[in-house]
Amino acid sequence: AGRDPAQDALNIRMRAIKHKVIVMSGKGGVGKSTVAACLAARLALRGATVAALDTDICGPSLPTLLAVSDQEITNSQWGWLPPLSPCGVKVLSVGSMLPSADAAVALRGPRKTHLVRSMLRDTLWGRLTYLIIDTPPGTSDEHLSLARLLRDTRPDGVVLVTTPQDLVCGVVRRQVTFCRKVGLNIIGMVENMAEFECPCCKERYPVLGGTGAAGRLAADLGIPLLGTLPLDPALATRCESGSAHDCLTPESTTERALGRIVEKV
Ligand code: ADP
Repeated sequence: AGRDPAQDALNIRMRAIKHKVIVMSGKGGVGKSTVAACLAARLALRGATVAALDTDICGPSLPTLLAVSDQEITNSQWGWLPPLSPCGVKVLSVGSMLPSADAAVALRGPRKTHLVRSMLRDTLWGRLTYLIIDTPPGTSDEHLSLARLLRDTRPDGVVLVTTPQDLVCGVVRRQVTFCRKVGLNIIGMVENMAEFECPCCKERYPVLGGTGAAGRLAADLGIPLLGTLPLDPALATRCESGSAHDCLTPESTTERALGRIVEKV
C-alpha cells in the first residue's frame, strides 16, 4: 500500500547506475554544460560506462557538445535508446526529441517534472558507472524534480560550476543553500574561466576576476574546490564543434585541470 509504481520503475533503472552526478550552476553561460560534457567524455575515455542526461529543457546543449545532434532517440520494447556519442557516451536530451533545431519548448512546472521523470524512468540506461546530469541554470522545477525523483537511489551529489564573478555576488552561496535544503550532497565546486593563459608568453590574465576567491569561498562554505579551468578558446571551439571528447594537448593547463576534476568526481 502507498507504493508508487512510476517511482518503483524509476528506482529500478537508477539502481543499475553506480554514480549519479548532477551538474548545476547559479546562472547561464558559466560553462556548466561544457564541464558536464567534458567530464562525461573523459570518464568514458578512461573506460567507464557513461551516460549524460540533459534536463535543460529550454536550452539543451549536450547533443551539440557530444556530437549526437544528427541522431534520433529510438524506441524499443525496453525503453528509449539514447544516441551514442563518438566517445561512447549515451546522450539523452530533450534536444534530441525536438522536431527541429530551432523549435522552442515552453513547459510549465508539472510538465517539466513529468518529462524529467520520463527521461530517468523510460530510458534504457543499462548498467552504468556514471550518469552525468546537466541541469538548467539556477534552481527551479528541474532541480527540485531531480532531488525528489532520485531520493530513494541517492545521487552522489552536485558539482557546482561557477565563474569568479559568481563567487562575489552570492550566486554560489544560494546554490549551496538550495542543495542543503533539498538534501543534495555537494561533491564540490569547479571554478571556470578564472584565467586566460596567453598562448605566446604564457602569462596569465585574471579575465573574470582570477583565481583565489573560489578556494576561499569553498573553504568558508565547507565544500571542496574540485579544480579551476582556464578560459581556453581551444576548449570552446572543440566543444561547439562536437568534439568535447577530443582531448586538447594532454599537457595543456585545461586538460590537466580536467583530469584532476575527473579524479575527484
Ligand atoms: P552554461 O551551460 O553554463 O550555460 P556553456 O557550457 O554553454 O555554459 O558555456 C557558455 C559558453 O562559454 C560556450 O560558448 C562555451 O564554449 C564557452 N566556455 C565554457 N567554458 C569555457 C572555457 N573554460 N574556456 C573557453 N570557453 C568556455
